[in-house]
Amino acid sequence: MNDQLRQQMFRELEQKDILEQVKEYSYQYLDEIMARRVFPAEESLKNLAKFDESLPENIGDASAIIAQLNQYGAAATVSHIAGRYFGFVNGSVLPTAMAARLLADVWDQNSALYVISPIAAKLESICEGWLRSLFNLPEHAVAGFVSGSSLAIFCGLAAGRYRVFDNLGWDINQKGFYGAPKVRLVVGRQAHGTVMKAIAMLGFGLDHIEWVDCDDQGRIIADQVPTLDSSTILVLQAGHVCSGAFDPFEELCTKARKAGAWVHVDGAFGLWAGATEKLSHLTAGMQDANSFSLDGHKTLNTPYDNGIVLCDDKEALTKALHASGSYIVHSEQRDGMFYTPEMSRRARGIELWAALKYLGKQGIDDLVYGFHVRAKQAAEALAEAGFEILNEVVFNQVMVCCETDELTQATMQHLQQSGECWVGGAEWQGRPIIRISVCSWATTAADIERTVAAFIQARADAEH
Ligand SMILES: *Cc1c(COP(=O)(O)O)cnc(C)c1O
Repeated sequence: MNDQLRQQMFRELEQKDILEQVKEYSYQYLDEIMARRVFPAEESLKNLAKFDESLPENIGDASAIIAQLNQYGAAATVSHIAGRYFGFVNGSVLPTAMAARLLADVWDQNSALYVISPIAAKLESICEGWLRSLFNLPEHAVAGFVSGSSLAIFCGLAAGRYRVFDNLGWDINQKGFYGAPKVRLVVGRQAHGTVMKAIAMLGFGLDHIEWVDCDDQGRIIADQVPTLDSSTILVLQAGHVCSGAFDPFEELCTKARKAGAWVHVDGAFGLWAGATEKLSHLTAGMQDANSFSLDGHKTLNTPYDNGIVLCDDKEALTKALHASGSYIVHSEQRDGMFYTPEMSRRARGIELWAALKYLGKQGIDDLVYGFHVRAKQAAEALAEAGFEILNEVVFNQVMVCCETDELTQATMQHLQQSGECWVGGAEWQGRPIIRISVCSWATTAADIERTVAAFIQARADAEH
């Protein structure tokens, strides 16, 4: 590198002007976030064109780059931090976790191995223990820290694939699928799309899935599950992405365990119900599954990206993710890369640790149960205002309809444009619906009232 450029960067670190600039912009953003539009205005979206340029020929000016990012970037963000974003299942961020993330970003750690970052390794192992205790998992259960549930599901199913083939005397890492004995995959018809993606990526082929019918809430009908055996992987769900419904774990996990089948639970946001006493009936019996996927960045409100795979079979998980074997030497300390598909990873365990330590059991209980209370409040107020609620609000998700499909869709568009709140849509049993996902610590009873008022206004606007 040319010395002049290096000197410039040393100066940037020494003088910290750009960090001061970022601090000022961040404070400004946070001061305005609770009051601003939820989705950016048209004008702000148009200004994104300011970023259209060819790759610069020359070295840039740090301060100008940060200023440009702030000027046109901040305005084109969606307000997830405040309390009226109800789209997808997107969490907010806890201030303490945000602060821990900022510090960790300055540290620039790689959590592949203990020797690459002792602090990252330490906090991953602390989180692993805390998550085990939070979800009542056995002492030998392990955790891998990945980008999100998409990858966590992949990891859980990869572990299951390793174990189930191993049950049949087949080393899937060495021999692959050519000439392999048949392994069965049993999946509910309402499984999340990322489950099918993981199944496809793992080479099973979607055509080989044994599909199980679901009830009107999207729960697997236990009676419809075919006979399980030790060559089977059963995928269950804690929290349907639209209805929030939970599969019947008690019955199915017991059955699977007796049969020697592998059970993976996709609990991206819903697994956290198991961390609150008042909702733990939803996840009862789930502890008997073998692998679990969940997100910190949804229900727990950590920053992105924060996914977790939990597995009661360390050998299956580590062998599945590290097929090449011989160079893998487990140190006395935790080496995070053995539990994830990646080698280099950012140290997301740091902000997860901060979130768990800040909330503690009591805070997690309050946070998670609070989502349920707010979701019930929204459902009741909307029903009173003449909207149809399509689901039993067992957790944090509400499915809303108007009298006609056209009115539902037009109401949703008006809501999205209003800037008052943001809700997305989906299709449920052939009808378009509006989804509400309560997933932010910042959502107050007043936010729900304001959102319900926005629904009523949007429907009135759509009718005219
Ligand atoms: C969000 C979600 C996923 C995917 O999680 P990402 O963190 O976005 O990868 C999988 N399953 C369910 C039920 C979800 O809600």
